[in-house]
Amino acid sequence: MLGIDNIFELIFLAGFIAGSVIRKVYTFKCRHGKAVKKHKSVVDIILISAGGVGMVLPLFYLFSPWLNFADYHLPGWLGWIGTAVFAMALLLLWRSHADLGRNWSAILRIRQEHSLVTGGLYRHIRHPMYAAHLLWAIAQGLLLENWLAGWAFLIVFVPLYLVRVPKEERMMLEQFDEQYRQYVSRTGGIIMRFWK
Ligand code: SAH
Repeated sequence: MLGIDNIFELIFLAGFIAGSVIRKVYTFKCRHGKAVKKHKSVVDIILISAGGVGMVLPLFYLFSPWLNFADYHLPGWLGWIGTAVFAMALLLLWRSHADLGRNWSAILRIRQEHSLVTGGLYRHIRHPMYAAHLLWAIAQGLLLENWLAGWAFLIVFVPLYLVRVPKEERMMLEQFDEQYRQYVSRTGGIIMRFWK
């Protein structure tokens, strides 16, 4: 239906706004700082753009009738799980931005004064921000009762992650060499590592 129909759509909208504010604040903070290396390919641009569409499709779902044909019903308890997952996603997004500071960039790049961050969340996992996006994508599906608006982001995020992470790690290895090699050996990718 058109507009906010239930508590989970309201929770999604509130989380979406909070996540957008976090991203905007840190994009502003990172606006200076030139790139010395950029890794941009057509596949990256297509996948990042598709990811953006997957993230904003819920707004079309909530405020237009265009996606109503894909509505379905989910039990309420899944919505509460989605709420907890979304809260976790936002916490990870905020903390990973705070930890990465000015080293962050939407496309893969090494900045002029780039340093390897190994503290905060990065002490345990190398990709907390991608973990945040994955949790966001799952939460979106659990909060919105619509096949398209709910799951589009997850469907795009998985290939984006699979294409991007090896490239990013190769770039970091080129830049930080042994320091990064050692960092990889003691951390998990997207999930915390409990073994040496
Ligand atoms: N993969 C990380 C960061 C995503 S942002 C995460 O999921 O949290 C992508 C940019 O972050 C890349 O352009 C790369 O230059 C930078 N980056 C990734 N890991 C980093 C680290 N440990 N220290 C500094 N910069 C890093």
